[in-house]
Amino acid sequence: MEFHEVIIVGGGPAGSTCAWKLKHLGVDCAVIDKAEFPRTKLCAGWITPEVIQDLEIDIPKYPHSILRLPALYARFYGLPIKISAPQYSIRRYEFDHWLLLRADVPVIRHETKQIERTDDQFIIDEKYSCRYLVGAGGTFCPVYRTFFSSSNPRAKNNLIVCRELEFPVPITDEKCYLWFFENKLPGYSWYVPKANGYLNIGVGGLEEKLKQNGDSINNHWDFLLGKLRTQSLIFGKDFNPKGHSYYLREPVNIVHNRNAFIIGDAAGLATRDMGEGIGPAVKSGILAAESISSGKPFRIDSISAFSLHHPVFLPILKLLMRY
Ligand SMILES: Cc1cc2nc3c(=O)[nH]c(=O)nc-3n(C[C@H](O)[C@H](O)[C@H](O)COP(=O)(O)OP(=O)(O)OC[C@H]3O[C@@H](n4cnc5c(N)ncnc54)[C@H](O)[C@@H]3O)c2cc1C
Repeated sequence: MEFHEVIIVGGGPAGSTCAWKLKHLGVDCAVIDKAEFPRTKLCAGWITPEVIQDLEIDIPKYPHSILRLPALYARFYGLPIKISAPQYSIRRYEFDHWLLLRADVPVIRHETKQIERTDDQFIIDEKYSCRYLVGAGGTFCPVYRTFFSSSNPRAKNNLIVCRELEFPVPITDEKCYLWFFENKLPGYSWYVPKANGYLNIGVGGLEEKLKQNGDSINNHWDFLLGKLRTQSLIFGKDFNPKGHSYYLREPVNIVHNRNAFIIGDAAGLATRDMGEGIGPAVKSGILAAESISSGKPFRIDSISAFSLHHPVFLPILKLLMRY
């Protein structure tokens, strides 16, 4: 049986950040992921300056696509609002792989299925054992399922369903556009340009509200394509999106159960206003590593449940929360 002091299940931003921090703190750890990296992760790839700072990324030295977006051009019920705070876009295919390599810890390709707890260890599929177990496996994380689903149940009305597509294209407009609540969408759609000629377009909304309205996310995808074509932001016909779902942050915050932890999407930490999950994944990864290394409790109250928590955005936040 292969033993590590800490095993992290999931090598996305939550897991790789936790591993990176543990390595710095001198704690033995390994990451288990079912996917071979680089792997595709559905995501618009918008990151905030806080993420850059938390991950200590020196932008000129980042070896892949990163685009500075000087502002976000949003529309709320059709009303235009320019959010003048520089943001960034990355491609998750590159970003996640780079973060995992940078963590410089053993990465085991394995799909975690069964986890048992003995007095002082966790046993994964009778192959791997550890003293501390971190669940960073996203929405369907097996650590969440095994140790947290009853104490930290997820509310269906916080489930976001998405359709998105990222593709190479000559970018005609480098602005980032967001359309909130258009055509009765309980969420928003986006147009996020990337560096080196890639574009990400997508739509996400609360599944329960869509059902209540007798609506579907596919209708909103079709609506988005129509709008982007009319505005000459995309051309051509074949746009087949992929889908994924994840949970927005809830008040329930049980993320630590003896030596088991959950972070990122496994803990349902995406912000309530924007569905921003990378920032909370990174922050929770750092906090979990610090807790394991110091023995202090793992608390996530310092991680904001909102992306627009800065006072300058408060009017926009209030508008969003009315929905
Ligand atoms: C369409 C869409 C657009 C989004 N856009 C944005 C955005 O622009 N900005 C933003 O901040 N957030 C965005 N999000 C949210 C963001 O993608 C997630 O919150 C973020 O990826 C969470 O990171 P994570 O490390 O917790 O999980 P993930 O990135 O999902 O990583 C989980 C890892 O666990 C592995 N895994 C899962 N199960 C197992 C298992 N049984 N055994 C082993 N390994 C396993 C997976 O292979 C995966 O690599 C978006 C989400 C979607 C769906």
